[in-house]
Amino acid sequence: MRIARYTLGDDPAYGIVEGEPGADGEGAVIHPLTGDPLYVGVLPAGVAPIPLPDVRLLAPVLPRSKIIGIGRNYAAHAQEFGNEVPPEPMMFLVPNTAVVGPGDPVVLPRGSATVDYEGELAVVIGRICKDVREEEALGCVWGYTCADDVSERTWQRNDGQWARAKGFDTSKPLGPWVVTDLDPSALRLVTRLDGEVVQDGTTADLVHGVARLVSFASAHFTLLPGDVILTGTPAGVGPVRPGQRVSVEIEGIGVLDNPFVRR
Ligand code: MG
Repeated sequence: MRIARYTLGDDPAYGIVEGEPGADGEGAVIHPLTGDPLYVGVLPAGVAPIPLPDVRLLAPVLPRSKIIGIGRNYAAHAQEFGNEVPPEPMMFLVPNTAVVGPGDPVVLPRGSATVDYEGELAVVIGRICKDVREEEALGCVWGYTCADDVSERTWQRNDGQWARAKGFDTSKPLGPWVVTDLDPSALRLVTRLDGEVVQDGTTADLVHGVARLVSFASAHFTLLPGDVILTGTPAGVGPVRPGQRVSVEIEGIGVLDNPFVRR
């Protein structure tokens, strides 16, 4: 099931996406839901479906308490920056105010220099979990979506921690929707810069897989419904300039596409 968050110009709503959307969303519809499906379950609103091109898609989830990013979780990406693969998942926190949705501009902040795209699989937590075992961890997952872990490298290098480099407003596009029934173990992930393929990886190459990440994170943080774990980026990371677009496509989910602008 693909669950989108959208607006028709008024309050955000949720709906189930049906059909295979073309480039502009034509060919697919949204079946509106009542309330937030993370909290009330999937309750059809009982109204007519809306053509997907008629709505504006929003970030499919607003993390309730946190985004947990994972650094250097693909060996080839760690190597391209001359880093070792950490023996345990390397976690960092991102404020939920960094989230934007499909098509929203990523606004490069004043003073930023080298800003990189990082296409990633995002895991959306579905229920409160703490100290969950790896074997049970996937039961805590609501679904999956695409993410771009946009990162400012100069700040990342020089600040001593990554809050500003990876947490500035608009730096965490999520979307286009959450897919609730997906095996995350071997999904192809392709990132395009202005249409040109720059990352072509698979989640089969995750050093620490989704179950391990959820279990590990839950040992340190209580995970709440709507919290998001970014699983790391494959090789091929590079800079993006204002005026360019980055799209992240993940098999079984769809395409997240965002323009980049300078503030
Ligand atoms: Mg990343």
